Amino acid sequence: MAKRLEGDFDYIVVGAGTAGCIVANRLSANPRNRVLILEAGGSDNWIWFHIPVGYLFAIGNPRSDWMFRTEPEAGLNGRSLAYPRGKVIGGSSAINAMISMRGQAADYDHWRQLGLGGWGWDDVRPAFRRLEDHFLGESEHHGTGGGWRIEAPRLSWKVLDAVADAAEEMGMRKIPDFNTGDNEGIGYFHVNQKRGRRWSAARGFLKPALRRPNLRLEKDVLVDRLIIENGRAAGVRFIQRGEAAEARARGEVILCAGSIGSIQVLHRSGVGPADWLAPLGIETVLDRQGVGRNLQDHLQQRAIYKVTGVRTLNETYYSLVRRGLMGLDYAFRRRGPLTMAPSQLGIFTRSDQRRERATGQVRRSAAPLPGDHGERMQFAADLARHRAHPLDAGRRGAFDRAELSIDRRGPPGRRRRHPHHAAVDEAAGAGALSPRRISAGAVGWRR
Ligand SMILES: Cc1cc2nc3c(=O)[nH]c(=O)nc-3n(C[C@H](O)[C@H](O)[C@H](O)COP(=O)(O)OP(=O)(O)OC[C@H]3O[C@@H](n4cnc5c(N)ncnc54)[C@H](O)[C@@H]3O)c2cc1C
Repeated sequence: MAKRLEGDFDYIVVGAGTAGCIVANRLSANPRNRVLILEAGGSDNWIWFHIPVGYLFAIGNPRSDWMFRTEPEAGLNGRSLAYPRGKVIGGSSAINAMISMRGQAADYDHWRQLGLGGWGWDDVRPAFRRLEDHFLGESEHHGTGGGWRIEAPRLSWKVLDAVADAAEEMGMRKIPDFNTGDNEGIGYFHVNQKRGRRWSAARGFLKPALRRPNLRLEKDVLVDRLIIENGRAAGVRFIQRGEAAEARARGEVILCAGSIGSIQVLHRSGVGPADWLAPLGIETVLDRQGVGRNLQDHLQQRAIYKVTGVRTLNETYYSLVRRGLMGLDYAFRRRGPLTMAPSQLGIFTRSDQRRERATGQVRRSAAPLPGDHGERMQFAADLARHRAHPLDAGRRGAFDRAELSIDRRGPPGRRRRHPHHAAVDEAAGAGALSPRRISAGAVGWRR
């Protein structure tokens, strides 16, 4: 028998990640709402959640990453890729690349045309503006005073300036901001940081709201499934420190467990394709074929180039003196390579000129970080010793689609392998940047 979490709640938010922190903040702003937020991970009291390059230690680390892997994929020469997702308050915003990127206006307008009311560019832009505290100040595109801090990067590299100049010579244009609805162009990415520290959703939205008496956060809580009564989500069942428990909401349960976690919870609750759930012995509550389909991501290919005549991070790192200066630069000015996003310069361009808008993305960095994206990368161990810089190329859009489904009924226990079977649905690879079909398949999870 599951014990009942004491307290009456109007809303239960599942997942204190990027979305969950914002939702909990907004709901608890009304003192009449009693809000419970449940998070599988722990607190962010580790220095590497705050120093920007900490992603090197947080990604691929079970302390902060769910450690999902894709199933081996024939289209990727049998590779199984690490598929990082944040598991800590702040969720993926605590371990991600910090690049501020809204996407293109035409994508949102396309969703609206498909029937998704409220998701056109003109609908979402005011929400983005309200959310932001943008270093460029108030404008038709950006807002100030919101919880989501966005700043200019605190370093630049000659090698990247040269790449930008070369791209301009090839006819692309330099733009100061990728987030105006049309991101075609070249520029340094803006980042979710405040004065040289990572700005996660937990810092921006959850922590300030936790002072409110009507918001309660429970960590180390693995939500198993929804309690569905009379067709309504009345609460959740979960496991906290090995004990089964449940909590109930008078109002709503809001699933913010991310693109993987929310699907897991829904499937375990009997919401999803009936033909997937039946073999697992899960009674279908709602047969929804789309739940677990059409996961889209941006698979990238990385090429590393040796360069001469210009400094890259590699040689800075391998010089003891320069490394010391790098540390001092961060300690005293919160500047320099320790504030670096994994990619610093972006180029969005069309894969061919018949396209109406940018279809390809190239990201460049001043230092190659070898290893699969998402594997744990050690600064010291993995930086190539030669002067080099990488180029990541990918196609944007419905390029990389996968399905996600669970393979057993209950939630995972500790140290258990819990693969998510998934089959590739579609992978379109037309275009100059990626002429071959590339696909990412299943997402598995090992703990
Ligand atoms: C390595 C990496 C780099 C990225 N780089 C960028 C970037 O530079 N720019 C950008 O815009 N986006 C980037 N993203 C994507 C961006 O971070 C995500 O799209 C965004 O954070 C997703 O927010 P979310 O709230 O949906 O999920 P998340 O932020 O992942 O939050 C989900 C939360 O739910 C919790 N949870 C899951 N399952 C359960 C459960 N059963 N019970 C309880 N809690 C649960 C998780 O622990 C997590 O805290 C990156 C993502 C990753 C992983």
